[in-house]
Amino acid sequence: MEYISTRGSAQALDFEGATLAGLASDGGLYVPREWPRFSGEEIADMAGLPYAELAAKVMAPFVGDSLTYERLLELTTEAYGRFAHKAVTPLRQLDEQQWVLELFHGPTLAFKDVALQLLGLFFEEFLSRSDRNLTIVGATSGDTGSAAIDAVAGREKVDIFMLHPKGRVSDVQRRQMTTVLAPNVHNIAIDGSFDDAQAMVKRMFADTAMTDRFAIGAVNSINWARLMAQVVYYFAAGLQLGAPHRAVAFSVPTGNFGDVFAGYVAAQMGLPVAKLIVATNVNDILHRALSTGDYSQGTVTPTAAPSMDIQVSSNFERLLFDLGGRDGKAMAAQMAGFEATKAMQLTNAQREGASALFQSCRADADEMASTIRWAWENCGELIDPHTACGLFAARASGLDEATPVVTLATAHPAKFPEAVERSTGHRPSLPARVGDLFDREEKCVALPGEYAAIAEFVASHASPRA
Ligand SMILES: *Cc1c(COP(=O)(O)O)cnc(C)c1O
Repeated sequence: MEYISTRGSAQALDFEGATLAGLASDGGLYVPREWPRFSGEEIADMAGLPYAELAAKVMAPFVGDSLTYERLLELTTEAYGRFAHKAVTPLRQLDEQQWVLELFHGPTLAFKDVALQLLGLFFEEFLSRSDRNLTIVGATSGDTGSAAIDAVAGREKVDIFMLHPKGRVSDVQRRQMTTVLAPNVHNIAIDGSFDDAQAMVKRMFADTAMTDRFAIGAVNSINWARLMAQVVYYFAAGLQLGAPHRAVAFSVPTGNFGDVFAGYVAAQMGLPVAKLIVATNVNDILHRALSTGDYSQGTVTPTAAPSMDIQVSSNFERLLFDLGGRDGKAMAAQMAGFEATKAMQLTNAQREGASALFQSCRADADEMASTIRWAWENCGELIDPHTACGLFAARASGLDEATPVVTLATAHPAKFPEAVERSTGHRPSLPARVGDLFDREEKCVALPGEYAAIAEFVASHASPRA
């Protein structure tokens, strides 16, 4: 399988190359040259497989020759063996129509573990084949940081530099990052928003003074391997609810459009998907883009769902590329316009293509709180504020009663205990596996939100590429 850039001019790479590269050198994102497709019979044969085996089956066409099937299965078995639930991503029923897919049973209590535990193993595998060092530079709105740090802490040949917006992540989120004291882990709190942090990371990928010396790698969902790993749980849920014979809708709490794009990929691969509901909080650039075609950056409003406090959704470019006839030149021009003016209009083809599969919905603070309360009072389930955006959108979706709607539960409620307690009167407790988080020492540097300061810090702490 070959990977091409959404902006058309970077060199095509195999899976190993795309995984280590992260962002393409032309500023675009890697996508597979074509979508592999399973027949109904092949999908039916996947029913009942253990999660690690299903993962290897679904990902094998994307991995191509970069790993043998046997090795891929060993890696999925190792990654998903660390989850606290045997089903890895258990599905729970809330009422006749509503279901919740629990994606938070990994080590850091958010869905990002599903992809990052595996990505950490891919890095180690590919780097061991040649004598190279990788410098991971990432931005986090809270959960990517802890999941990526857990996945690479203490590993050979990898340094990780993780930027988070100072004071805008929860205490649990921050401590899950800063209490990891391994020497290859560098936490950086910056003055600014997540979007500022993400823009600096993207800039470093394009900074040849840095990329000549260091092999800069990505753990954000601009890395294709993350999205690929997330496709698996759409199949897992779909199969449990009757795929390939019944179509299922998914409601996805969205920030960077990564998780929901994985659902789009599952649909391209032949999984019957009735609808993908893009659920946002008041930072609603995606809701505006999908409902009116207006993709223009607003200012970020902090909410109780900080991992979705985003106004530039990097992975949306992958969808626009696919819906726009995969024209890299046109995509590069459209994105250059967005970068210059912070606004763009979707083309008619993009709008029509999106409306066939997607709908969108935005939840404000009251709607999030009342949804947390509803799940507790009616179903006895404690859900976190991100999941609440998804469940609010699922319940408001207006879909036919015969269509099951699966909300992706993206974080454990104990990651956001204040918001959950305010709505339900119950404080969710941290699972034993995260241990004495609040008693541990923290390590973090604070830097101004200026690119030069970040680049200098990385350059003075990272290992050159070879
Ligand atoms: C990252 C995150 C999201 C948003 O996921 P995207 O793939 O960026 O759309 C939603 N909820 C939680 C808890 C997250 O950590």
